[in-house]
Amino acid sequence: MTLVSMKEMLQQAREQQYAVGQFNVNGLSWVHAILDAAQSEQAPVIVAASDRLIDFLGGYRTIATLVRVLVEEKGITVPVALHLDHGKSVESCLRAIDAGFTSVMFDGSHGPIEQNIEHTRQVVEYAAPHGISVEAEVGTVGGVEDGLVGGIQYADLHECVRIVEETGIDALAAALGSVHGKYIGEPKLGFAEMELISQAIGIPLVLHGASGIPLNQLTRAIELGHAKVNINTESVTAWSLQLRQTLADHPETTEPRIILTPARQAIEDSVRAKIREFRSTGKAAAVFTQLVD
Ligand SMILES: [Zn+2]
Repeated sequence: MTLVSMKEMLQQAREQQYAVGQFNVNGLSWVHAILDAAQSEQAPVIVAASDRLIDFLGGYRTIATLVRVLVEEKGITVPVALHLDHGKSVESCLRAIDAGFTSVMFDGSHGPIEQNIEHTRQVVEYAAPHGISVEAEVGTVGGVEDGLVGGIQYADLHECVRIVEETGIDALAAALGSVHGKYIGEPKLGFAEMELISQAIGIPLVLHGASGIPLNQLTRAIELGHAKVNINTESVTAWSLQLRQTLADHPETTEPRIILTPARQAIEDSVRAKIREFRSTGKAAAVFTQLVD
């Protein structure tokens, strides 16, 4: 299966009130684990690389080639989108597309709305003819975003409608109380605002900073139009806990497979659990039907 854009899988998910998981890559173990979990669950999946980690991961082309080839080598048959998370500039989005990413997020949420709309439109103009999906962001997700620690700023309804109508994006991250990284206390999502925005824009919403949101709030957010849910903190937490445990259990070993295999399995287990929470298990076939139509 070649990589696909996230447009069809998210439309399908929005109609049927489940969500496709976006799982971020932090190294080779993540690519294996995310693909294996999605395949075993027969779920569509979004493999993402954060723009701030691109150099650490070896560049856009390295990531795109790695994911594309691993999908082939593993015989992955579920729909997989390769997405740039929090693209910092129009140029970085274009570079990711040229390298083989099938989806990009342009994050202009830290600047004025006019500038956000203008830059997002430039990304869509380049992406759409290539069949590449585009996500934009309005408002500010709390916590660490693009390496900046910030407070929460709720998305404005009219700005959400404007960016959708004036750019032609496929999905919108509207910040409504979620936080990147670990939550302090119980998350409080703005469900009333969420419902209004979802109805007004008519395209899939994206939930950033979903690690640690209780299942009842997550389920409500999905019912109210979040067709894409981003997870990173939970997988890196599972990975690092297991890595520490393995090193403690085998203090003498230098064998990479002994050290790294359980940590990779921990990522896979956490991704699988999230896919089930998002109710995207078994939904791969439905996406294919729509792709063929
Ligand atoms: Zn995010």
